[in-house]
Amino acid sequence: MAVSVSQLSKARPGAPFPLSFDASFFITHPMRYTTQFLLSALAAEQFPPPGVPEIAFLGRSNVGKSSLLNTLTGDKAAKVSSTPGRTRAINFFALLDQSQRRRMVFADLPGYGYAKISKSISAGWPAFIEPYLAIRSTLKLCVCLVDSKVPAQESDRQLIDWLRAAGRDFAVVATKIDRLSGNERTRGLLALKKGLELDEVLAISAKTGYGVKELWARIDATCGQPD
Ligand code: GDP
Repeated sequence: MAVSVSQLSKARPGAPFPLSFDASFFITHPMRYTTQFLLSALAAEQFPPPGVPEIAFLGRSNVGKSSLLNTLTGDKAAKVSSTPGRTRAINFFALLDQSQRRRMVFADLPGYGYAKISKSISAGWPAFIEPYLAIRSTLKLCVCLVDSKVPAQESDRQLIDWLRAAGRDFAVVATKIDRLSGNERTRGLLALKKGLELDEVLAISAKTGYGVKELWARIDATCGQPD
């Protein structure tokens, strides 16, 4: 696929870590689900077997991805994802309903960095990320996080263009919206829409919970409502 974002991730050296299912990570979801850490994958062969709908979370480092995951799933998810050695992995979490049935999987992708663009989406990003986004059969929605206070960045734009070209469903979420006043908010969101050529940007705050319900609605609409 000929689209390109590069140097997407900050080089974060991390010691190798055991890749294993860890059933001890059960986190009570504040709303409906329990979150179960599945595994951290560093290669396509390590992805969990495809099953329920999967939602991927993507964004530049520091965009507020851990905080949002924290708000959506409980703090262990964010903690697992930021554990040294796991920041360059795809961290998979299953969301279980009250009958312990798996409803969906969240895939937390490594944060990409601030460096300039080059030839491949995966240059500077682990090589297994692009195949994940391109061919993962159960991937139903990519939640792309952008900072509401930062103008549209080339790396974000190219990622979104890449997702469009790949035919992936995605939702762009403007994070940390609590930091903007009413007018700034309107202006910032308009600028992001224009810069990223989008009809819709979902404003969100992990701090105040603003927009979280709307994001869940989008995720539920993608995954189908629980019985
Ligand atoms: P990550 O690198 O994308 O996982 O980003 P983090 O979740 O670690 O957040 C980066 C910084 O932004 C931290 O200092 C957070 O406290 C801050 N932050 C994240 N979300 C919000 C938010 O909704 N509102 C505000 N005001 N700050 C936030």
